[in-house]
Amino acid sequence: MTKKFKMYIDGKWVDSLTGETFKVVSPIDGEIIAEIPVAAKEDVDRAVQAAAVNKESFKLTGDNYRSDLCNKIADEIEKRKEEIAHWMTMEQGKPYELESLPEVEESILNFRIAAEDIKRIDGNVIFSNDPNKKFFTKREPNGVYAAITPWNFPMVIPVEYVAPGLVTGNTMVMKPASLTPITVLLMAECIEAAGVPKGVFNVVTGPGSTVGEAMVGHPMVDAVGFTGEGVTGRKIASIALLKRMLLEMGGNGPQIVLDDADIVEAAKEAAFGCYMNAGQVCCATERILVQKNVKDQFIDELLRITKEIKVGSPFESGITMGPLNSEETAKKVDTHIKDAIKKGAKIICGGGREKGFPTNLYYQPTILDNVVPGMLIHDEETFGPVAPITSFETDEEAVQIANSTVYGLQMALFTSSLKRSKYFSDRLQTGNIAINASTCYWEAHQPFGGSPGTESGQGRLGGMYTIYDMTHIKTVSVDFEKCK
Ligand code: NDP
Repeated sequence: MTKKFKMYIDGKWVDSLTGETFKVVSPIDGEIIAEIPVAAKEDVDRAVQAAAVNKESFKLTGDNYRSDLCNKIADEIEKRKEEIAHWMTMEQGKPYELESLPEVEESILNFRIAAEDIKRIDGNVIFSNDPNKKFFTKREPNGVYAAITPWNFPMVIPVEYVAPGLVTGNTMVMKPASLTPITVLLMAECIEAAGVPKGVFNVVTGPGSTVGEAMVGHPMVDAVGFTGEGVTGRKIASIALLKRMLLEMGGNGPQIVLDDADIVEAAKEAAFGCYMNAGQVCCATERILVQKNVKDQFIDELLRITKEIKVGSPFESGITMGPLNSEETAKKVDTHIKDAIKKGAKIICGGGREKGFPTNLYYQPTILDNVVPGMLIHDEETFGPVAPITSFETDEEAVQIANSTVYGLQMALFTSSLKRSKYFSDRLQTGNIAINASTCYWEAHQPFGGSPGTESGQGRLGGMYTIYDMTHIKTVSVDFEKCK
């Protein structure tokens, strides 16, 4: 059954001013599950105006008050955890028990972390050349904050902006991905139920090329947060100009396996990194670089684990991989595999779509050997359940291959040597490196983001680090002699 949703603007649930809508199709069975408003430019303007009108008053509310609000939002989400996770699986396709429920739980955690972090923001007292004066620094919200998010994590990525954004006193306009807008609209219901003042948090829906651009370019928007593809990030940066920006973009993270590593563990973590969310993760294990003398052993182990992956309906218990989210994503995976084979890669298992499912989006977990730079699967982000294996002989060569793409988000290294850990962590051009853990290992409070000089973005998301990015430092000098 198709459910009709509305947008949340200035504390009201509204249709688009034009009445136009778009449909959300479930990747599980191809059914239309929701009808969503296409915001007109005027709707975006209404939402931004509402955020702007409330900017000063919300900023001046107490930190304790906003901390309580975040805990109340977490409570409201907690009450509807199963329902939200259900819709997430319907619109995105990820396994309900294994991934959607944990994503909602991680979202709740993010609100609780924000509620605590706000109590721990500190400032500096800085000396002045004038003995009667001191400088103080304090953090203030960026103001009206526009957040635009992708479809692979429909809730936790939006929450990575919303929780630190609201707790620090930003007023917000958010646009979820058009493929997965439902979860954010349900979150807006929780935000309303928690008592967040009207106009402080707004959701508009519709295409990035119109709705997103209208948000980013709006003169009353002070700052922009974006998670998505590099090409979109560039476009957004060209429109946002001098607005403050936090950009989280693509990755091509290699897992590097050295010959002194625990190979069984390295293969287990590689499988997790390649197949979690069917590989549709910015920090997915997009490449595996294995030292030549342990490659055969590694592949045997990875193949064994890959055969245990159960592809099927994400609501069925025991299923570990659901469908890909859209035909566009699946086509890109097809293209990358085809290109790799043409250029000399060898299929160890998988390599195409699974048959016998209600849609053509169920993909075989795939292992490719003999992958080299110059293949699309090596150089670009594939975003599918593929484990591409490249071999190397020396540590220098591994660093060179790892750093050879335009990305630098998350990398992983498997070794038992502290000396080699240091060698690699000093030389890999990446924002994050997991040593003896998957590229898909993260914790909600850690800083996460791209390395400068790459296309993976700028700024850091995660706990206190987002709070720093979503606030600015105000410096106040005080002449004590002239005070009473
Ligand atoms: P897109 O860049 O296509 O879309 C992301 C968001 O931007 C969507 O809401 C989209 O709207 C919107 N958008 C599209 N065009 C514009 C525009 N011209 N102006 C403003 N907004 C626009 O990314 P995907 O949704 O395909 O997400 C996958 C990408 O996200 C991958 O590259 C992945 O690596 C990256 N990502 C990065 C993460 C990180 O932390 N670094 C985490 C997760 C994903 P619409 O949906 O309507 O097109």
